[in-house]
Amino acid sequence: MNADEFRKAAHAVVEEIISYNQNVASGNLSVLPSIKPGYLRPQLPSTAPQHPQTWDQIQPDIAKSIIPGLTHWQSPNFMAFFPACATYPSILGEMYSSAFTAPAFNWLCSPACTELETIVLDWLADALHLPKDFRSDSPGGGGGVIQGSASEAIVTVMVAARERYLNRRADAKDLKDPSPEREKWIADTRPKLVALSSDQAHSSTAKGAIIAGTFHKTVGTKWGEDLAVQPGALEATIKKCLEDGLEPYYITLSYGTTSTCAQDPVHLLAPVLQKYPDIWIHIDAAYAGTALVCPEYANTSTPATNGNIRKPEGLPMNDHDLSQKIDTAEPPLESPNGLLPAASDVLKHVDSWNTNMHKWLLTAFDASLLFIRNRKDLTSALSITPAYLQNKHTDSGLVTDYRDWQIPLGRRFRALKIWFVVRTYGIEGLRAHIRRTVRVGQHFEKLVTDSADGKQLFELVVEPAFGLTCFRIRPGAIPKELSPAQVQDEEESVETKKTINGTPFGTIEQQDDLDDLESTKKKQAQPTQSIEDLANAFSK
Ligand code: PLP
Repeated sequence: MNADEFRKAAHAVVEEIISYNQNVASGNLSVLPSIKPGYLRPQLPSTAPQHPQTWDQIQPDIAKSIIPGLTHWQSPNFMAFFPACATYPSILGEMYSSAFTAPAFNWLCSPACTELETIVLDWLADALHLPKDFRSDSPGGGGGVIQGSASEAIVTVMVAARERYLNRRADAKDLKDPSPEREKWIADTRPKLVALSSDQAHSSTAKGAIIAGTFHKTVGTKWGEDLAVQPGALEATIKKCLEDGLEPYYITLSYGTTSTCAQDPVHLLAPVLQKYPDIWIHIDAAYAGTALVCPEYANTSTPATNGNIRKPEGLPMNDHDLSQKIDTAEPPLESPNGLLPAASDVLKHVDSWNTNMHKWLLTAFDASLLFIRNRKDLTSALSITPAYLQNKHTDSGLVTDYRDWQIPLGRRFRALKIWFVVRTYGIEGLRAHIRRTVRVGQHFEKLVTDSADGKQLFELVVEPAFGLTCFRIRPGAIPKELSPAQVQDEEESVETKKTINGTPFGTIEQQDDLDDLESTKKKQAQPTQSIEDLANAFSK
């Protein structure tokens, strides 16, 4: 493909992306594709083409074979998991990133790539009200790095935590470094290490422990305690591990668990963890962390807006239309966090913190921010410098080589899209986006709990948090035995509740449950079928 062909192809691609996004934003596309597993193979040749093809031959296959197999995460009807909100500025960042193709593993490999990353992460550390210790210019040697995913961020810090624990303990035993005695002690101790998290933490911690070659144990949580880790349970788990000959070296605390957005109260857990100072404390704030851009979530006295506050009028606009402008005058949310201490105070206790901009902060996948208190913890665990990676800039100690802050060597130029997003929306725009989407959640909560027909079919499972509302069919809401005609009435009521002004809502699983409902409806034609089966099928 030459430059002229690229120009023509790129224009056509941009047009197609715009019309795809407009189509998705209209809400007219079904979120889930209506294809069966294996749909693609029969549509494509069984071998790669022997001869070159033109873009005119290639591009039509996007509309014909790929778009029909997409799940439309950007659809206003997408209610599963956490959001994935791409925006045009972040797509532009991706375009430049591929064009520059800089696997910039060290500073010299593309100084702009490294330096922009450091700068935008400092911007974000401030914008998210993180402690100054997480800035690259902090006296303690903190800083931020962009990882591909929260899982990568977590496993990376787990490895750093493991090495820090072993080395601190070996130092405490006065084992000379290096020495065969130290090596032996480390080799004997490593199999005893255990990573901790709550039983509600995302599976990335359990997976990280597998990759780091350590055990993983969970701290139990309870419904009545907001599914958050409590100090007593934490201390009991640590003591039990120690009694069992295991050595806790790391803990993930969550700021927004995947299932219910539970928040582990770091300020209450810190006094327990201070008794075990070698345990690395990591906060997984993959989804909810970006809410800290709003002072009301960070609990700071930073002025919340530019002063131009207005009352919200009705429902916020459709957030899935990439071309919309965000109205920065969206007013702050009213005390969403209760009386928690300021994030910058709470996070003083932690070693590392991650959040995904690609979930809730207007950035196309992937952009996971990892902030660390002391970069040396990462670099001493992960830095290996063979001759081909040596250079005078690295030797000078004046530059950052992000290869030592991550698992892979090469890395993408992700800072560009973050830079574009932050500049295009401004911090006020980012805040307005979070506030507006939380208000969408509050509106949704009202729809779930309001009972227009007096039947109250649904109930909340936990208090809604951030943009997440967890609900279920109220136990007993569906009477035990119904005639087929009554069953039909119930289903119609369910169908009505499963739509907001004609727009379906519910998770993918719940949409699947609607399909189950269809098949249950058929079975219900037999008079012996219990309505409980129906309720079970629907609420499983
Ligand atoms: N942590 C939490 C709290 C999550 O909700 C998720 C995914 O939803 C993850 C970690 C994993 O994210 P990633 O796909 O970036 O690894």
